[in-house]
Amino acid sequence: MKVYTLGGYEEVGKNMTAVEVDDQVVIFDMGYNMESVVSSEGQVDEMTTNQSLEIEAVPEDEPLFEADKNVVGIVIGHGHLDHVGGIPKLAGAYDCPIYASPYTKKIVERTLEDDRKNINNPVIGVEKEDEVDITDELSLEFAHVNHSIPDATLSLLDTPEGYVVYGNDMKIDQSPIIEETTDVERLKEVGEEGVKLMIPGTTRVEEDGRARSEESVRVELEDVLNSCYKAGGAVLLSTFSSQIGRLNSVIDANNGRRKIAFVGRSLKEYVESAEELDLINTDQIEVVSYFDECDELMSRVDGERNEWLVVATGNQGEPGAQLDKITSGTYGFEFEEGDHVIFSSQVIPSPVNEANRYELEKKMKEKGVRLYKGIHTTGHAHREDHRDFIQFLDPEQIIPSHGPIQKQGDYVQLAREEGYTLEENIYVSENGRIINLDK
Ligand SMILES: [Zn+2]
Repeated sequence: MKVYTLGGYEEVGKNMTAVEVDDQVVIFDMGYNMESVVSSEGQVDEMTTNQSLEIEAVPEDEPLFEADKNVVGIVIGHGHLDHVGGIPKLAGAYDCPIYASPYTKKIVERTLEDDRKNINNPVIGVEKEDEVDITDELSLEFAHVNHSIPDATLSLLDTPEGYVVYGNDMKIDQSPIIEETTDVERLKEVGEEGVKLMIPGTTRVEEDGRARSEESVRVELEDVLNSCYKAGGAVLLSTFSSQIGRLNSVIDANNGRRKIAFVGRSLKEYVESAEELDLINTDQIEVVSYFDECDELMSRVDGERNEWLVVATGNQGEPGAQLDKITSGTYGFEFEEGDHVIFSSQVIPSPVNEANRYELEKKMKEKGVRLYKGIHTTGHAHREDHRDFIQFLDPEQIIPSHGPIQKQGDYVQLAREEGYTLEENIYVSENGRIINLDK
């Protein structure tokens, strides 16, 4: 077995790994590097494959071409852009299907909707617990895991050498909101059947303990909303648009007390896809994205400030996103002293994001807005969640991913406690390296 660590081994983002068994190659994920995408101010969507490779927005997949590899399938673990964003740029070069769980499939199809991107790979939806044959020798199953988007999976590739388990973004949430807890029973079964290789994400491995639950965030949201509603004034909230569980918590915590509006294009798109799968109900919610719609709605909110809870995009402070527009007075709405803004999110640590958020908060504070920050939990496993995954799956070999060398190193330290040895059965990699496991 050979493993091509193509992207996500020097950064958080740009995920792509390929596994070769008996001359058949399966690719896991084709993601964007979100820093490059943000820095390009949205231009990357219009770029050619070569241009997006030049700004390092997508993984460099040259090592697969050099060896003229027989790629038989592209497996996508979940719908975040750092896992699916590169598909329109890269997938067309491979004559094979894309496999994804139902919600992920909808997101992949949206990324391919634009007809300029004539990508012909069929997109095959795979329900969790179903098994599909990719070839005579390789079959695929998705196990359910908790993350921060619906339908996240651990990809289980059954090969003649044992399972390859690709789990690049997952945690174990004992109290999730719209889904079950990670399918621990199935993971233990697979562990007993024999896992040749596990490829886990390392994004938050340096954090002790466990990631907190979505239910604990729901309770905190309810507390904050209670206090805001008692004080009166406009209440705005922002979270990640694909965080459908959190949006359900917001609706639940509001408990019919105020009218709710969702403002912003990405919010509308992720919510529409979720509604098609009955993951959210927006019958009582105004969902707006075009300028005139947003302007009309926010003008109404301005005159009925005690009647609305507005959920808007732009929690990273991105210039031009809805929260920035609303704060800058783009629409017929002006913040007044004592209005409230709740950030049910965290700043994704990068100098660009931190500068943008600082500017946004500064503008809000100048208007006397009261801020509530960090009402949030991560979708990524902490150290003890990771220990569980190692113990449940008991892999022969581990290649940590989705993080730079420091995070991979933190994971190696944890794995050492579980009996692994560097370069013997756990590897620190780089983008473009090929690791041969047949030793
Ligand atoms: Zn993710």
